[in-house]
Amino acid sequence: MTKRPVVNDSITDALHCTTCLLPMQYQTKKDGKFLWQCFKCGKKFAVHENNTDVIEESWSPPR
Ligand SMILES: [Zn+2]
Repeated sequence: MTKRPVVNDSITDALHCTTCLLPMQYQTKKDGKFLWQCFKCGKKFAVHENNTDVIEESWSPPR
């Protein structure tokens, strides 16, 4: 078992966009969810703080 250093409220290794397969950028923590966004296509992931297996996808088109 290796221990992962805890850095602020980031959770795990970086998520990857399921569309572009690019690393997503961690943005903020809101309402008990960690929000990540793909800078390329604008896809957003919301990872639940209490259960990081639960990931909600949403979409916000790039400007
Ligand atoms: Zn993407």
